[in-house]
Amino acid sequence: MKVVLQNLTKKFSGRGKKNAGEVTAVNDFTVEIPDGELVGLLGPSGCGKSTALNLISGLLKPTAGRIFFGEDDITDLPPEKRGVGLVFQNYALYPHLTVKQNILFPLQNLKGKNRPSKTAMLEKAAEAAKLVQIDGLMDRKPGELSGGQQQRVAIARALVKMPGVLLLDEPLSNLDARLRLQTREEIRRIQRETGITTIFVTHDQEEAMSISDRIVVMKEGVVQQIGRPQAVYDDPANLFVARFLGTPPINVFAGQCRGGRLYLGQDAVLRVPGIADQEVYVGVRPEGFVLCETGALSCEFGSVEVMGRDISVVSRHSASLNPTVRAIISAENRVDPAGGTVRFSLKPQKVFLFGKDTEERICGEITES
Ligand code: ATP
Repeated sequence: MKVVLQNLTKKFSGRGKKNAGEVTAVNDFTVEIPDGELVGLLGPSGCGKSTALNLISGLLKPTAGRIFFGEDDITDLPPEKRGVGLVFQNYALYPHLTVKQNILFPLQNLKGKNRPSKTAMLEKAAEAAKLVQIDGLMDRKPGELSGGQQQRVAIARALVKMPGVLLLDEPLSNLDARLRLQTREEIRRIQRETGITTIFVTHDQEEAMSISDRIVVMKEGVVQQIGRPQAVYDDPANLFVARFLGTPPINVFAGQCRGGRLYLGQDAVLRVPGIADQEVYVGVRPEGFVLCETGALSCEFGSVEVMGRDISVVSRHSASLNPTVRAIISAENRVDPAGGTVRFSLKPQKVFLFGKDTEERICGEITES
């Protein structure tokens, strides 16, 4: 099912005089999600992700804008008529019911001709349980399951009606690191097998990047960028997006474009032939550094952190806005800081310029000096 959000806005009224404290949780959100895609809604706490999801599910009514499932405008339909499956962070299972009864619950709630026969219900529940691999646990109560198993039950319960759209709100937050990894791969597998258009909310950029077909990055209710994870990482629209994506995070410097060259402090690191003279923010991805004795960027060496395949060279530079500069390079390199200085050249495709005032990306040719 294709999902289209058209200029979707949600304001929460304030409690003070003249609506003081009014919050625009989602502001003019427009996106078209193709049928069968998995989309990650991503952003820091309070950016409006859950509000956007609740607008799609129908739990909240928009202040303005429309929502379409396929060609149908469903903005005014109540949640139960939208054909969505919902999964929350806290699983929200019924503790007194068995796994089987929990999964059956949405089917038993169906009325009239939509209600399947008892045999059909049991078949559907068994099918959903098999899909999320909990078919051996059907007679247990939620209290007798691990967190990961409980989340699978919640997903099975959301899938049992074969919804047109599956909505997941921070589904992995309550799981430990290893289970998170495993469960996110499971979600991807289940989504691929069912082909259900899925929107999931997370504040964890790595999680969103790893399993989404497309990510939507939000800040203060406003969509910052929509695209394939790699494309957004490689081509961030603004400083916020560049900073939000990537582990370790992007290195940000105060820089200057002067006479076609890019300066970080005194170091002329790259050529920027078409870019007007101005002060800029310069983002350099950690993998954008090349250890080089004659490199233009001269940093005060700090330490080397071993990561296995790679090493992280930690250093300082006067123009850096991060406390340290972090360069990820292959472990085959030997770091030999002569006189406490380590020198790098920069890979132009890993360097981004942003306006000092707008923090928007400045596009233009960047080449080696
Ligand atoms: P988190 O990751 O912390 O769950 P989020 O990105 O999902 O955050 P939302 O829960 O959508 O963010 O909230 C967006 C903004 O709207 C926040 O400023 C929040 O305080 C505000 N907000 C959410 N629900 C309400 C409400 N019912 N009444 C008033 N303000 C609200």
